[in-house]
Amino acid sequence: MSDRPRERGAHAPGGIAEARAALAAWVDDAGPAGRAFLQALVRATGGGRYEIRHRRDVGFPLDALEVSRDPFAARAIAQVTDDGEHRPLKSSPNLRAGWALVELDESALWTALDYLYPACAVHWHAGRTGTLRVTHWRETAARQTGMYGAVKLLETEAVRNAVRACCGDAVCLRRVAWEVDEATPLEMAGEGPPHGDARVPCPEACSMFVSFARQVLKVERAPRRPVEGLVPMAAEETNQLRALVAAAASGTLGRVREGEFDDPLNPRRIRYLAARVAAAEAPMDEGELPCEGCPRRVPCAGCPMVT
Ligand code: SF4
Repeated sequence: MSDRPRERGAHAPGGIAEARAALAAWVDDAGPAGRAFLQALVRATGGGRYEIRHRRDVGFPLDALEVSRDPFAARAIAQVTDDGEHRPLKSSPNLRAGWALVELDESALWTALDYLYPACAVHWHAGRTGTLRVTHWRETAARQTGMYGAVKLLETEAVRNAVRACCGDAVCLRRVAWEVDEATPLEMAGEGPPHGDARVPCPEACSMFVSFARQVLKVERAPRRPVEGLVPMAAEETNQLRALVAAAASGTLGRVREGEFDDPLNPRRIRYLAARVAAAEAPMDEGELPCEGCPRRVPCAGCPMVT
């Protein structure tokens, strides 16, 4: 993003130089303890210089870490997890540890952080200054074409569950700032304080979310059958439950890459199923069933009111 007024990014009406100075001042104000920016620890080391390392490495001496003075080294650091797996979403909580970027000036600090967490610092600054430009889901979905064009058909409740599954702290450290549309909130309940000291808003659904939404649409459009004690499920979902139990029993759960949505054991797919199951009310005793005017959103198995 450029600093020239005519080319300024939508989230930085004051220019990137202003956002960069605000980041440095925020880190300076924290003193020697530094600031936790998502999983990174950013510290001022004196003389206008900064250091970035993983928060897990806070107590390690520099000679125990892979040290670089080159801010562009952050690009390779952000590419893979501790296990060497590709990281398609840089805001996932799987930044690898074991490195330190040192002797960074204000400009190099910005560059390095932008490689570790693309666009996060500018969105952080925009969130703090009230200049964040948000695009709600319906608008993002309407822009999709080709194989992703159908995501615009996703119903509101499915969008909400998709966000619970795809965007929670366990899988993405940004905070969703968009809604279903201007008048329809996402109703994201129970989010605690942000991870670290920086609240990094997400102004628009990312490509990972759009791809996940396509998988969710497939599940939502499949015919469902009642499952006693649970929500009605599609055959793919009952198969997913079986695969889940088998993987848990064999200790292989958690080995699926985060972008592989065809795999029923993908963490976001499991989280979507969990969100659907959690949304269903627990069945009451048979004698208590008030079929007339029943308030349940998900009918019980064999409900006489459902034709
Ligand atoms: S859409 Fe969700 S997963 Fe993607 S960056 Fe935003 S919060 Fe994270």
